Amino acid sequence: MTATATTVRGLLIGGEWRHGEGEPLERFNPARPSESVVRLVAATADDVRAAYDAAAEAAPGWRRTPGPARGEILFRAAALLAARADAVGEELSREEGKTLPEGRGEVLRAVQILRWFAGEASQPVGDVLPSANATTFLWSERVPLGVVTVITPWNFPVAIPVWKLAPALAFGNTVVWKPSELTPLCAIRVAEVLSEAGLPPGVLNVVHGLPAAIGDAVTGDERIRALTFTGSTATGRAIQQAVVGRGVKTQLELGGKNPVIVLDDADLDQAVEQTLRGAMWSTGQKCTATSRALVLPGIRAAFSERLAERAAALRVGDPLAEGTQIGPVVSQPQQQKVLGYLDVAADEGHALLAGGRAAQPAGDGWFVSPTVYGDVDPASRLGQEEVFGPVVGIIPVDSLEEAVTVANGTPYGLSASIFTRDIARAFAFVREVEAGMVHVNSETAGAEPQAPFGGTKSSSSGSREQGKAAVAFFTESKTVYLDMPAGG
Ligand code: NDP
Repeated sequence: MTATATTVRGLLIGGEWRHGEGEPLERFNPARPSESVVRLVAATADDVRAAYDAAAEAAPGWRRTPGPARGEILFRAAALLAARADAVGEELSREEGKTLPEGRGEVLRAVQILRWFAGEASQPVGDVLPSANATTFLWSERVPLGVVTVITPWNFPVAIPVWKLAPALAFGNTVVWKPSELTPLCAIRVAEVLSEAGLPPGVLNVVHGLPAAIGDAVTGDERIRALTFTGSTATGRAIQQAVVGRGVKTQLELGGKNPVIVLDDADLDQAVEQTLRGAMWSTGQKCTATSRALVLPGIRAAFSERLAERAAALRVGDPLAEGTQIGPVVSQPQQQKVLGYLDVAADEGHALLAGGRAAQPAGDGWFVSPTVYGDVDPASRLGQEEVFGPVVGIIPVDSLEEAVTVANGTPYGLSASIFTRDIARAFAFVREVEAGMVHVNSETAGAEPQAPFGGTKSSSSGSREQGKAAVAFFTESKTVYLDMPAGG
């Protein structure tokens, strides 16, 4: 197709911004669906192949670039992104639907991640080992893998890409990145700062498009050495199947059904506020969102009443408006999916304590009322399945032991939290709960770049992101036995 003047060049291939050869792709504001946010032309399989050609060509040079020099580029990218935090944060809100403080906060979090991995690029990359042979110098070092594929979702369209791209690049890999078709503008902004910071051509390549059009090309290239994905469990597992036969190293960060446990001795205010944040902020569209509150009898009535009151009082509306606390969900299909779960909940007979419907605070956007259910059966669909919207179910439990059994009773195991003043019971929970990340007296969401991030069971492929864990995924070990010629 012919691109119009207002269509941005959204593909980055071999250092050049260009149009794809595929279909037009337009993204609308989920709070005001008649407002266009960005228009571009998607990639074809040939465009994707060109992106892999560029990544493969750039790989030897980038691999040889010293770590500190790679880190300098990431530091510059961090500075550029920090300087643009207001502008990119606003675009994020317009494109994805988060409130302005959430959008800006996400951009600043990406800055922090870039800085952390910029520093990591100068950290030790190996170990010197004692050899059994007195004249052998024996060491192992971490070396880049080569070409890495990055597939990212829409829910954190700046932070999630950066927490994959920053370590991939810091540790010497070149990248082909397919962002979500729902958030192409955020992807362009992230790639712009990395490119302007001085990444050589071909080190980072970006392709946009629907999975039906380019999915096979994105995952099928023979040159891919590793693939990192965040998104739904079903899609992640299918992509893993597609590449695992070729020996591609995979990292999947998938869904969650994250519980908070509220014991009788919990601080009620803290438990309610943190549960509300975990369940509702980012409109509940977080893999680490709180979607189950397992509450003991002594505090259940007060907790349920207060949580429902607080949820009902949240201000849903235009994410760019001052004072809005909850923006829309990302798209009409996502709204339909979440509303479908409210129908399921009604059929299953859970007690509706707040919300339970679409919300129309402004225009014709894709809003959902913050929703709280009580008396949820842990075996029901609402008790088991990831909703990915502003919905939380209160599940009655009678003891910590029962709470742990219920918490562990889903296929997921991403994040979990407990509210209590009793350190012994907190430790018992930490020990017994099946989750990759555990919080005591704080919400289930939240991550710091220096700490491993990821889940167990169906929430991941077993690997971890961020922190030192990122080195393990984005590099491989080379062991060297060095002996001098005899007499030399
Ligand atoms: P998906 O898991 O389907 O998509 C995640 C990413 O993978 C997107 O970039 C998507 O592209 C891409 N993708 C999908 N299929 C392929 C393929 N065959 N080859 C290459 N790339 C592919 O998530 P959705 O965005 O469709 O959301 C569906 C549900 O997933 C949500 O309702 C939510 O429950 C869950 N989800 C969970 C997330 C988490 O962090 N755990 C994040 C996002 C969603 P595109 O967007 O262009 O379709």
